[in-house]
Amino acid sequence: MKVVLVLSDALRDDIAAERMGFLEHLIETRQGTRYSVRGELPTLSRPMYETVHTGLPVTEHGIYSNQLVRRSSVPNIFEIAVRNGRTTAAAAHFWFSELYNRAPFDPIEDREVDDPSLLIQHGRFYFEDSFPDQDLFLAAASLARKFTPDYLLVHPMGMDFLGDSVGSATAEYRNHATVQDILLANLVPEWLQRGYVVLVTGDHGMSADHSHGGTTADVRMVPLYILPPVGGGQGNTRETISQLRVAPTILTLLGLPVPETMKHPPID
Ligand SMILES: [Zn+2]
Repeated sequence: MKVVLVLSDALRDDIAAERMGFLEHLIETRQGTRYSVRGELPTLSRPMYETVHTGLPVTEHGIYSNQLVRRSSVPNIFEIAVRNGRTTAAAAHFWFSELYNRAPFDPIEDREVDDPSLLIQHGRFYFEDSFPDQDLFLAAASLARKFTPDYLLVHPMGMDFLGDSVGSATAEYRNHATVQDILLANLVPEWLQRGYVVLVTGDHGMSADHSHGGTTADVRMVPLYILPPVGGGQGNTRETISQLRVAPTILTLLGLPVPETMKHPPID
C-alpha cells in the first residue's frame, strides 16, 4: 500500500479530539482507527521528526536538539523506501531536508527538488514557521497527483506557529485545529480514492506557556488517526501507544522490511 503521513507540528491529542470534526467523524463511523500516542522526550521538533521516521528514542538516533544539524545516520523510512525502489515525497519544513537529503540546507538548491538519487526524491521545503498551512497542503496534494509517491510526508507548521506565539490555551490555537481539519476534509477523500492509507499525528504537543520540550501530557500526547482506503477501521480504541511504533507501522503498510533497529511492534 501507499502511505500519506500528515505530521501536524504541535498538534495536541485533546485538541484534535475536540476540534477536528471531519477526522472524528471518520472514527465515529469506524472508517478509521484512533489511538493516543505518548510522545518521546524531549518534546522538540527535530528530535521527534527523526524519532517518527526511525522508531528510535533520541539517545539512540542522536538528534538530541533542534540545533543539531546533520543527516540521519540510522535506518529510516525514506532510506528504506528508496533502497527498495519506492518513490518518496515530502512537503515539509527544511529540517526534513537536512535530516534526509542534505545538511546544511541550501535555500536555493534544496527548496524544491525532484531527484531520484535523494532520500526525499520529490521535496517542497519551507523555512518560515509562519508558512501558510493551505499552501503546504496544496503542495502535498500536487505531489500526490504528479508523482504518485509510495510515501508522502505532509508537514504543516500552523499549530506550532500559533502555539509558540499565543500558547495552546487560546481560541487561535484551538480553532486552527479545525482549519487543518477542513483542509484535510478537502484532500483526504482524494488520497483514499487513490489507494493511500492516510495517517495523521503530531511530533509533540503544546503548552499554555507557548512552549514544548518538557514532559507533561499537554506537550507529550498527540493523536494518531489511521484511515485506510477501503474503510473498515476500529473507531476509537482509547489505547495509548508508544510513538516508537509509528515508523514500523508505516514500513509494514508500505510492505517494506522493518529493520532490527526498530524494536517496537507495528500496529496491527
Ligand atoms: Zn515540532
